[in-house]
Amino acid sequence: MGTYCEVISDDPRAAKIAFSEIKRLEKLLNRFDPNSEVGQLNRLGKLKVSGDTLKVIKKSRLAFNKSSGAFDITVAPSVEVWRQAKQNNKLPDARAIRTARDLINSQNLLIDENNRIVSFVKPKMQIDLGGIAKGYAVDCAIKKLQEAGVKSALVNLGGNMYALGSRAGKSWKIGIRHPRQKRKLMGEIFLTDRGVSTSGDYEQYFTLQGRRYSHIINPKTGSPVDNEVVSVTVLAPDAATADFLSTAILVLGKAKGRKLAESFPNTQAVIISRDDL
Ligand code: AMP
Ligand code: MG
Repeated sequence: MGTYCEVISDDPRAAKIAFSEIKRLEKLLNRFDPNSEVGQLNRLGKLKVSGDTLKVIKKSRLAFNKSSGAFDITVAPSVEVWRQAKQNNKLPDARAIRTARDLINSQNLLIDENNRIVSFVKPKMQIDLGGIAKGYAVDCAIKKLQEAGVKSALVNLGGNMYALGSRAGKSWKIGIRHPRQKRKLMGEIFLTDRGVSTSGDYEQYFTLQGRRYSHIINPKTGSPVDNEVVSVTVLAPDAATADFLSTAILVLGKAKGRKLAESFPNTQAVIISRDDL
Protein backbone atom coordinates (compact mmCIF):
# COMPACT_ATOMS: atom_id res chain seq x y z
CA MET A 1 0.00 0.00 0.00
CA GLY A 2 2.93 2.29 -0.67
CA THR A 3 4.01 2.49 2.94
CA TYR A 4 5.63 0.59 5.79
CA CYS A 5 3.90 -1.90 8.08
CA GLU A 6 4.86 -2.74 11.63
CA VAL A 7 3.42 -5.48 13.82
CA ILE A 8 4.34 -5.75 17.48
CA SER A 9 3.21 -8.78 19.46
CA ASP A 10 4.46 -11.44 21.82
CA ASP A 11 2.75 -13.99 19.63
CA PRO A 12 5.26 -15.19 17.00
CA ARG A 13 2.49 -15.83 14.46
CA ALA A 14 1.18 -12.28 14.52
CA ALA A 15 3.31 -10.61 11.86
CA LYS A 16 2.68 -13.28 9.26
CA ILE A 17 -1.08 -13.27 9.87
CA ALA A 18 -1.30 -9.48 9.66
CA PHE A 19 0.94 -9.12 6.61
CA SER A 20 -0.89 -11.72 4.55
CA GLU A 21 -4.27 -10.13 5.29
CA ILE A 22 -2.95 -6.68 4.35
CA LYS A 23 -1.47 -8.10 1.14
CA ARG A 24 -4.85 -9.61 0.28
CA LEU A 25 -6.56 -6.23 0.66
CA GLU A 26 -3.85 -4.41 -1.25
CA LYS A 27 -4.61 -6.66 -4.22
CA LEU A 28 -8.23 -5.43 -4.14
CA LEU A 29 -7.86 -1.76 -3.25
CA ASN A 30 -4.66 -0.46 -4.82
CA ARG A 31 -5.52 2.05 -7.54
CA PHE A 32 -2.09 1.69 -9.15
CA ASP A 33 -2.63 -2.02 -9.80
CA PRO A 34 -4.69 -2.34 -13.02
CA ASN A 35 -5.88 -5.80 -11.92
CA SER A 36 -7.14 -4.69 -8.52
CA GLU A 37 -10.87 -4.12 -8.16
CA VAL A 38 -10.30 -0.39 -7.84
CA GLY A 39 -8.06 -0.47 -10.91
CA GLN A 40 -10.75 -2.28 -12.91
CA LEU A 41 -13.56 -0.05 -11.65
CA ASN A 42 -11.58 3.06 -12.59
CA ARG A 43 -11.00 1.68 -16.06
CA LEU A 44 -14.49 0.30 -16.73
CA GLY A 45 -16.68 2.71 -14.77
CA LYS A 46 -18.76 -0.18 -13.42
CA LEU A 47 -17.85 -3.36 -11.58
CA LYS A 48 -19.21 -6.12 -9.39
CA VAL A 49 -16.95 -5.95 -6.37
CA SER A 50 -16.05 -8.15 -3.41
CA GLY A 51 -17.59 -7.68 0.02
CA ASP A 52 -14.42 -5.97 1.24
CA THR A 53 -14.29 -3.39 -1.53
CA LEU A 54 -18.00 -2.73 -1.07
CA LYS A 55 -17.48 -2.17 2.66
CA VAL A 56 -14.68 0.35 2.11
CA ILE A 57 -16.71 2.23 -0.49
CA LYS A 58 -19.76 2.28 1.78
CA LYS A 59 -17.70 3.58 4.68
CA SER A 60 -16.26 6.21 2.33
CA ARG A 61 -19.77 7.34 1.48
CA LEU A 62 -20.56 7.71 5.16
CA ALA A 63 -17.34 9.72 5.52
CA PHE A 64 -18.40 11.91 2.57
CA ASN A 65 -21.85 12.54 4.03
CA LYS A 66 -20.67 13.23 7.57
CA SER A 67 -17.82 15.51 6.47
CA SER A 68 -19.99 17.60 4.10
CA GLY A 69 -17.87 16.40 1.21
CA ALA A 70 -14.44 17.13 2.71
CA PHE A 71 -13.63 13.43 2.48
CA ASP A 72 -14.37 12.30 -1.05
CA ILE A 73 -12.80 9.25 -2.70
CA THR A 74 -13.70 10.60 -6.15
CA VAL A 75 -10.77 13.06 -5.76
CA ALA A 76 -8.64 10.62 -7.82
CA PRO A 77 -8.51 12.79 -11.00
CA SER A 78 -7.23 15.73 -8.95
CA VAL A 79 -4.76 13.56 -7.04
CA GLU A 80 -3.49 12.49 -10.47
CA VAL A 81 -3.17 16.08 -11.76
CA TRP A 82 -1.07 17.02 -8.73
CA ARG A 83 0.96 13.82 -8.79
CA GLN A 84 1.97 14.69 -12.34
CA ALA A 85 2.80 18.24 -11.26
CA LYS A 86 5.13 16.79 -8.67
CA GLN A 87 6.67 14.41 -11.20
CA ASN A 88 7.21 17.09 -13.84
CA ASN A 89 8.17 19.70 -11.28
CA LYS A 90 5.67 22.04 -12.94
CA LEU A 91 2.40 23.52 -11.65
CA PRO A 92 -0.71 22.21 -13.44
CA ASP A 93 -2.58 24.70 -15.60
CA ALA A 94 -5.86 26.12 -14.37
CA ARG A 95 -7.91 24.22 -16.92
CA ALA A 96 -6.51 20.83 -15.92
CA ILE A 97 -7.25 21.65 -12.28
CA ARG A 98 -10.84 22.64 -13.13
CA THR A 99 -11.53 19.65 -15.37
CA ALA A 100 -10.38 17.25 -12.66
CA ARG A 101 -12.22 19.13 -9.93
CA ASP A 102 -15.50 18.95 -11.84
CA LEU A 103 -15.29 15.16 -11.74
CA ILE A 104 -15.23 15.11 -7.92
CA ASN A 105 -18.54 14.27 -6.30
CA SER A 106 -19.33 11.07 -4.44
CA GLN A 107 -23.00 11.59 -5.21
CA ASN A 108 -22.12 10.41 -8.70
CA LEU A 109 -20.82 7.15 -7.29
CA LEU A 110 -23.64 4.60 -7.33
CA ILE A 111 -23.70 1.63 -5.02
CA ASP A 112 -26.06 -1.23 -5.76
CA GLU A 113 -25.68 -3.04 -2.47
CA ASN A 114 -27.75 -6.12 -3.24
CA ASN A 115 -25.81 -6.92 -6.41
CA ARG A 116 -22.54 -5.46 -5.09
CA ILE A 117 -22.21 -3.33 -8.22
CA VAL A 118 -20.43 0.01 -8.04
CA SER A 119 -20.65 2.43 -10.95
CA PHE A 120 -19.82 5.99 -11.96
CA VAL A 121 -22.42 8.41 -13.30
CA LYS A 122 -19.85 10.49 -15.20
CA PRO A 123 -17.26 9.17 -17.62
CA LYS A 124 -13.63 9.72 -16.50
CA MET A 125 -14.58 9.61 -12.83
CA GLN A 126 -12.15 7.64 -10.69
CA ILE A 127 -11.78 6.70 -7.05
CA ASP A 128 -8.78 6.72 -4.73
CA LEU A 129 -9.07 4.89 -1.42
CA GLY A 130 -5.72 6.20 -0.12
CA GLY A 131 -7.40 8.08 2.73
CA ILE A 132 -9.22 5.07 4.22
CA ALA A 133 -7.87 1.76 2.87
CA LYS A 134 -4.90 1.53 5.21
CA GLY A 135 -7.10 1.90 8.27
CA TYR A 136 -9.55 -0.64 6.88
CA ALA A 137 -6.71 -3.10 6.20
CA VAL A 138 -5.49 -2.68 9.79
CA ASP A 139 -8.97 -3.49 11.10
CA CYS A 140 -9.12 -6.63 8.94
CA ALA A 141 -5.66 -7.70 10.10
CA ILE A 142 -6.74 -7.27 13.71
CA LYS A 143 -9.83 -9.38 13.06
CA LYS A 144 -7.65 -12.17 11.65
CA LEU A 145 -5.36 -11.94 14.68
CA GLN A 146 -8.31 -12.22 17.04
CA GLU A 147 -9.66 -15.21 15.13
CA ALA A 148 -6.27 -16.89 15.57
CA GLY A 149 -6.44 -16.27 19.30
CA VAL A 150 -3.85 -13.49 19.46
CA LYS A 151 -4.65 -11.42 22.55
CA SER A 152 -2.19 -8.57 22.24
CA ALA A 153 -0.78 -6.80 19.18
CA LEU A 154 -0.14 -3.43 17.66
CA VAL A 155 -0.56 -3.14 13.91
CA ASN A 156 0.74 0.04 12.29
CA LEU A 157 0.29 0.60 8.58
CA GLY A 158 1.85 3.92 7.65
CA GLY A 159 0.58 5.76 10.72
CA ASN A 160 -2.79 4.00 10.80
CA MET A 161 -2.87 1.73 13.81
CA TYR A 162 -4.91 -0.46 16.07
CA ALA A 163 -3.81 -1.46 19.54
CA LEU A 164 -5.27 -4.85 20.46
CA GLY A 165 -5.43 -5.70 24.13
CA SER A 166 -2.68 -4.53 26.39
CA ARG A 167 1.07 -4.87 26.56
CA ALA A 168 2.42 -6.53 29.71
CA GLY A 169 -0.74 -5.51 31.55
CA LYS A 170 -0.49 -1.87 30.47
CA SER A 171 -1.94 0.21 27.66
CA TRP A 172 -0.03 0.56 24.43
CA LYS A 173 1.92 3.82 24.36
CA ILE A 174 2.09 5.79 21.14
CA GLY A 175 4.05 8.96 20.54
CA ILE A 176 2.76 11.89 18.51
CA ARG A 177 5.64 13.20 16.47
CA HIS A 178 6.51 16.85 16.16
CA PRO A 179 5.43 17.75 12.60
CA ARG A 180 8.56 19.76 11.92
CA GLN A 181 11.27 18.11 14.05
CA LYS A 182 11.63 14.45 13.24
CA ARG A 183 13.05 13.24 16.53
CA LYS A 184 10.89 15.32 18.81
CA LEU A 185 7.57 14.21 20.31
CA MET A 186 4.61 16.50 20.94
CA GLY A 187 2.97 14.09 23.35
CA GLU A 188 1.97 10.53 24.12
CA ILE A 189 -1.29 8.65 24.06
CA PHE A 190 -2.28 5.41 25.71
CA LEU A 191 -4.49 2.89 23.96
CA THR A 192 -6.28 -0.38 24.55
CA ASP A 193 -8.56 -1.84 21.87
CA ARG A 194 -8.65 1.36 19.82
CA GLY A 195 -7.69 2.67 16.44
CA VAL A 196 -5.49 5.70 15.93
CA SER A 197 -4.43 7.46 12.79
CA THR A 198 -2.28 10.45 12.00
CA SER A 199 -2.48 12.58 8.89
CA GLY A 200 -0.07 15.41 8.40
CA ASP A 201 1.44 17.74 5.90
CA TYR A 202 4.93 16.51 6.75
CA GLU A 203 5.20 12.86 5.71
CA GLN A 204 4.04 13.20 2.15
CA TYR A 205 4.34 16.61 0.57
CA PHE A 206 6.21 18.21 -2.24
CA THR A 207 7.66 21.61 -2.93
CA LEU A 208 7.19 23.48 -6.17
CA GLN A 209 8.61 26.93 -6.78
CA GLY A 210 9.40 27.29 -3.11
CA ARG A 211 5.89 26.39 -1.91
CA ARG A 212 4.90 23.36 0.09
CA TYR A 213 2.01 21.24 -1.23
CA SER A 214 0.06 18.66 0.74
CA HIS A 215 -0.92 15.24 -0.66
CA ILE A 216 -4.49 15.89 0.47
CA ILE A 217 -6.88 17.57 -1.96
CA ASN A 218 -9.60 20.02 -1.05
CA PRO A 219 -12.51 18.62 -3.11
CA LYS A 220 -14.01 22.12 -3.44
CA THR A 221 -10.96 23.57 -5.21
CA GLY A 222 -9.30 20.49 -6.70
CA SER A 223 -6.00 21.70 -5.26
CA PRO A 224 -3.95 20.63 -2.24
CA VAL A 225 -5.34 21.76 1.12
CA ASP A 226 -3.83 24.90 2.48
CA ASN A 227 -4.87 25.80 6.00
CA GLU A 228 -3.52 26.19 9.52
CA VAL A 229 -3.59 22.49 10.37
CA VAL A 230 -0.26 20.65 10.13
CA SER A 231 -1.10 17.36 11.84
CA VAL A 232 -4.18 15.49 12.99
CA THR A 233 -4.25 12.40 15.18
CA VAL A 234 -7.61 10.70 15.65
CA LEU A 235 -8.50 8.02 18.21
CA ALA A 236 -11.57 5.98 17.33
CA PRO A 237 -13.16 2.58 17.95
CA ASP A 238 -11.75 1.28 14.65
CA ALA A 239 -8.76 2.19 12.48
CA ALA A 240 -10.79 2.88 9.32
CA THR A 241 -12.79 5.59 11.10
CA ALA A 242 -9.60 7.07 12.57
CA ASP A 243 -8.07 7.00 9.06
CA PHE A 244 -10.82 8.83 7.17
CA LEU A 245 -11.39 11.29 10.01
CA SER A 246 -7.74 12.32 10.16
CA THR A 247 -7.81 13.01 6.41
CA ALA A 248 -11.16 14.84 6.57
CA ILE A 249 -10.09 17.04 9.49
CA LEU A 250 -6.99 18.13 7.60
CA VAL A 251 -9.33 19.38 4.86
CA LEU A 252 -11.89 20.99 7.19
CA GLY A 253 -9.48 22.87 9.47
CA LYS A 254 -9.47 23.10 13.24
CA ALA A 255 -12.96 24.32 14.17
CA LYS A 256 -15.06 22.29 11.73
CA GLY A 257 -12.69 19.35 12.11
CA ARG A 258 -13.17 19.23 15.86
CA LYS A 259 -16.95 19.31 15.41
CA LEU A 260 -16.76 16.40 12.97
CA ALA A 261 -14.72 14.29 15.40
CA GLU A 262 -17.17 15.09 18.20
CA SER A 263 -20.07 13.83 16.08
CA PHE A 264 -18.61 10.29 16.22
CA PRO A 265 -19.06 8.20 19.38
CA ASN A 266 -15.98 7.43 21.44
CA THR A 267 -13.72 9.47 19.16
CA GLN A 268 -11.11 12.11 19.94
CA ALA A 269 -8.90 14.29 17.76
CA VAL A 270 -5.57 15.93 18.52
CA ILE A 271 -5.27 18.76 16.02
CA ILE A 272 -1.94 20.60 15.76
CA SER A 273 -1.97 23.86 13.87
CA ARG A 274 0.80 26.23 12.83
CA ASP A 275 0.45 28.45 15.88
CA ASP A 276 0.89 25.45 18.21
CA LEU A 277 4.46 24.94 17.02
P1 AMP B 1 -4.07 10.09 4.50
O1 AMP B 1 -2.61 9.96 4.30
O2 AMP B 1 -4.73 8.95 5.20
O3 AMP B 1 -4.47 11.40 5.07
O4 AMP B 1 -4.74 10.01 3.05
C1 AMP B 1 -4.29 10.81 2.01
C2 AMP B 1 -4.60 10.12 0.70
O5 AMP B 1 -6.02 10.10 0.51
C3 AMP B 1 -4.02 10.84 -0.48
O6 AMP B 1 -2.73 10.36 -0.79
C4 AMP B 1 -5.03 10.51 -1.56
O7 AMP B 1 -4.77 9.22 -2.06
C5 AMP B 1 -6.35 10.47 -0.82
N1 AMP B 1 -7.03 11.78 -0.70
C6 AMP B 1 -6.53 13.02 -0.94
N2 AMP B 1 -7.44 13.97 -0.68
C7 AMP B 1 -8.56 13.32 -0.26
C8 AMP B 1 -9.86 13.76 0.15
N3 AMP B 1 -10.20 15.06 0.20
N4 AMP B 1 -10.76 12.81 0.50
C9 AMP B 1 -10.44 11.49 0.46
N5 AMP B 1 -9.24 11.03 0.09
C10 AMP B 1 -8.30 11.92 -0.26
MG1 MG C 1 -6.43 8.94 6.38
